[in-house]
Amino acid sequence: MNKSKDVLLEVRNLKKYFAMKKGFFGGNTQYVKAVDDVSFYIKRGETLGLVGESGCGKSTTGRTLIRLYRPTDGEIIYGGKDISKMDDKELIPYRKKIQMIFQDPYASLNTRMTIGDIIGEALDIHKIATGKEKTEIVHDLLSRVGLSPDHAIRYPHEFSGGQRQRIGIARALAVKPEFIICDEPISALDVSIQAQVVNMLSDLQQELGLTYLFIAHDLSMVRYISDRVGVMYLGKIVEIGESEELYEHPAHPYTQALLSAIPVPDPDIVKNRKRILLEGDVPSPINPPSGCRFRTRCMHAMPKCAEIEPVMKEISSGHYAACYLL
Ligand code: SF4
Repeated sequence: MNKSKDVLLEVRNLKKYFAMKKGFFGGNTQYVKAVDDVSFYIKRGETLGLVGESGCGKSTTGRTLIRLYRPTDGEIIYGGKDISKMDDKELIPYRKKIQMIFQDPYASLNTRMTIGDIIGEALDIHKIATGKEKTEIVHDLLSRVGLSPDHAIRYPHEFSGGQRQRIGIARALAVKPEFIICDEPISALDVSIQAQVVNMLSDLQQELGLTYLFIAHDLSMVRYISDRVGVMYLGKIVEIGESEELYEHPAHPYTQALLSAIPVPDPDIVKNRKRILLEGDVPSPINPPSGCRFRTRCMHAMPKCAEIEPVMKEISSGHYAACYLL
């Protein structure tokens, strides 16, 4: 794929399979192929959006990149080094450079710790600051995310969902990361709060030169924050390209269906728009369909779609999709 020298992260043929026993008494091991041969890159300072229905492998991709999961196969090249097979000791410097913001702002904060301790914990772990200096950094981080330094002595239950997500963002920023994996950071928030959090992430990116992988199922918000967007289906990326191009000219039938379901406020557009209904459920990632994985739900499926998996093809500059119609 087309890319320039300032690539921060390159993922090559990444796979993450989870082993599960067959039946109550064991038997052959089966594998959930959550991420199955995924390749992409992210340039320094850009945001790559990763979208798809739940269970498509987007969150597993994020968690594998940060090495919460050990990859089954493939390479994760970060700043020129393959981190996919590094042990815990080798990963220490990368644990600072790469941070994650989690989906559920209620579950991701320890309810027994004060906000100051939650944000300051990473400063302790990475031996960045102690005492007065640590307090000053925590206060500065709270201000950066739109909270007050006085909030440092309070507990998570005293905050709303949006404020908790701001605390999660402050915690991620504490170690001065380069790259943040935002794993559905707005999915659990009220619609009115979602735009505020996305705007804040966007401002922080400008100020601090951050690089984001923004994982979401809400396609409208992803367009707003992402420079490029990748669409995942059943463990594979089926289309990837510049945001504007992908939203204006979706090429893969799955992307077209997802985009046709986005609510739009203009009644004239709604009247003229053809909604593509996806029929059936997403097949099991234990035993995905042969050939094109989308074929069981694709209205254009033809015999060869079941035989050989379509490969990614460049359909316009930097815009790739995997479909026999292209
Ligand atoms: Fe549909 Fe075939 Fe294209 Fe897959 S390859 S999206 S089944 S037309």
